[in-house]
Amino acid sequence: MPINATVKLCGARARQNNHQPCRQPAMRDKARCRLHGGKCTGAKTKEGKIRSAKANLKHGFYTKEALAERELMREMLKWRDNLECLL
Ligand SMILES: [Zn+2]
Repeated sequence: MPINATVKLCGARARQNNHQPCRQPAMRDKARCRLHGGKCTGAKTKEGKIRSAKANLKHGFYTKEALAERELMREMLKWRDNLECLL
């Protein structure tokens, strides 16, 4: 039990102590301490946001473009099926 129960502990897996949770107090209104990303506020610049999005893209199956393309394909197949009914 921490001495001051109102202060949240960081809890990030620390490399220093055999991957046990970090025992530093978390930063105010944050879940992590200053050493484990508590200071980080995310990408700010346009370039940084693009870089971040690129770094986190796994396969792009659910990107807006991929979803729109599949939707278009479904629509085209529907039209084709309707045409075949008319012939
Ligand atoms: Zn920490």
